[in-house]
Amino acid sequence: MKIILLGPPGAGKGTQADRLKEYLSVPKLSTGDMLRAAVAEGSEIGQKADKIMRTGGLVSDDIMVAMIADRIQKPDCAKGFILDGFPRTIGQAQALDQMFEKLHIGIDHVIEIKVNDAALVERISNRFSCSKCGAGYNHKSKPTKVKGACDTCGSSEFSQRADDRAETVAARLEQYNQQTAPLLPYYSKRGTLHSVDGMQPIDTVTSEITDLFKVAA
Ligand code: AMP
Repeated sequence: MKIILLGPPGAGKGTQADRLKEYLSVPKLSTGDMLRAAVAEGSEIGQKADKIMRTGGLVSDDIMVAMIADRIQKPDCAKGFILDGFPRTIGQAQALDQMFEKLHIGIDHVIEIKVNDAALVERISNRFSCSKCGAGYNHKSKPTKVKGACDTCGSSEFSQRADDRAETVAARLEQYNQQTAPLLPYYSKRGTLHSVDGMQPIDTVTSEITDLFKVAA
């Protein structure tokens, strides 16, 4: 199954992608995670991306398309994948169409997670992750089970993303509205777009998404 998750920063794409990858046994391809890994590595792409990400801009289509083209041809993607954070522009969506045509594959579902703008800033400013294993949390909606200890690895070191500061979040939301929101009509015209209310509890959002797969099966 090949899935695209769409939605503004803070909509819960990453959280839902983590759950869906278990449910479907396919990898989650998060371009944000790939870029953060490149930044941490200090690679050429990482150095270019670092400044852009810190200011809430978008990394160029050329870099992003090459990154995904390479990734979806890896053997673990043969059964499908969940795209989290890609495509983010019409140019990326068109390049993805071309890649799929070449590989003789197609998208099964494009899922938009809808969240009110006001809730996004609040959600983003409350999120943090384990510095050791990367498990994601939110002070309000998803705290650690034991205070100060990661549920997954037990580490007590946590960090916040550099681009989750309020001023950067505003720039990221603007980028979403200008560059990414046009993908909604792009996919809806093809009948592959489903919208899910992302203001609901995390479990409810997951079951609404997985129900879509059952209807389609
Ligand atoms: P995310 O973790 O998906 O919120 O992505 C974090 C940041 O990485 C974004 O604000 C962008 O600067 C960059 N980024 C991630 N995916 C893309 C993409 N598909 N195209 C351009 N920039 C991206």
